[in-house]
Amino acid sequence: MPKGENHWNWSGDNVGYHGIHTYVRRRLPRTKSCEKCNSARPMDLANKSGKYLRDLSDWEWLCRKCHMLSDGRMNNLNQYKPIEERKYATRRTLTYKGETKGIAEWAREIDIPFFALMKRIQRGWDASKAIETPLKITTKQL
Ligand SMILES: [Zn+2]
Repeated sequence: MPKGENHWNWSGDNVGYHGIHTYVRRRLPRTKSCEKCNSARPMDLANKSGKYLRDLSDWEWLCRKCHMLSDGRMNNLNQYKPIEERKYATRRTLTYKGETKGIAEWAREIDIPFFALMKRIQRGWDASKAIETPLKITTKQL
């Protein structure tokens, strides 16, 4: 049975999100308006680094909108690569000059084989390069 300090781990790093949140909320003076956009909407206590540090400088008061935006930005940053990769692997679409179509559709339109276009995308070519670069005719195709 854990006792004393080990059991009631108040001062350690294991306080958890809720404990940290309450700790900061009590100590960081609530601003009258959002620290980002200055609007006076209802305020959220927002964490800056995503690490939820027990450090007042890692927190700020933001309006709901800015809070969501900053969280979203953080998620996009973290998930950017997997999402891009998944997009090509499963949806197989390509956005070129503002138009999103399936890769097969683009391939038909520009008259190159689907697998050739697919290969370009998988190699990491961007849409305009993949679509605008003419297909190299190999001797086999001639
Ligand atoms: Zn704001």
